[in-house]
Amino acid sequence: VLDRAYFVNVFREMLPFVDEQSEHLQKLDSEIGDGDHGINLTIGFREVTKQLDTIKEEAEDISSLFKKVGMILLGKVGGSSGPLYGSFFMKAGKDVTGKEEVTFDEFCGMLINGVEAIQHRGKAEIGDKTMIDAFQRGVDVLKQDTPEDPVEKFTMFVEAMQEGADSTVPLVANKGRAMRLGERAIGHKDPGAESAWMMMEVFLKQLK
Ligand code: ADP
Ligand code: MG
Ligand code: MG
Repeated sequence: VLDRAYFVNVFREMLPFVDEQSEHLQKLDSEIGDGDHGINLTIGFREVTKQLDTIKEEAEDISSLFKKVGMILLGKVGGSSGPLYGSFFMKAGKDVTGKEEVTFDEFCGMLINGVEAIQHRGKAEIGDKTMIDAFQRGVDVLKQDTPEDPVEKFTMFVEAMQEGADSTVPLVANKGRAMRLGERAIGHKDPGAESAWMMMEVFLKQLK
């Protein structure tokens, strides 16, 4: 089972992760966007970190912990990734109200709900060159029955997401800023797809 402490630790590790990857994400976004993806995530998770101790005290269950994190991202991050990641975290907890710990299967369900929220809000499909290209491939792994070992399964989940991010390189974008570039987006990786798998890797590292 995964308890509140696990999730609090994950959220605590998000800012160091973002700080480490900020330049890389910034570079990807400057190639096909406006170059702020790294800074957007930094702004969001800096605020999450700042409020984490309060949130930890106030959140009665895992559902409200996720909801609070999502609301911070939604409120603080101006770019399109703010509302998208915000909805991801807000909706991830919708079925685990009242729970102070969740099973690994329930956690997989939370991630699936989160991705559905991103899809609902952003209306992107696989192949549109967005974070959905990473998330959707990950969801396909989560929906499989095997493997049973959580770390093994989550590793496959993150790897599938990474492959999904790589798959955006040859694509033309049908959503987001990169759309305006048309064929000039070809040859560049989508920054949101890259941050998506990396963010899920933070969950994996704390699982081990
Ligand atoms: P902005 O584009 O507003 O500057 P960011 O740079 O923070 O915001 O985030 C850009 C990322 O958001 C893109 O790389 C893409 O993955 C994701 N994105 C943009 N629009 C959508 C959408 N409609 N659905 C899913 N993801 C999207
Ligand atoms: Mg941007
Ligand atoms: Mg922007």
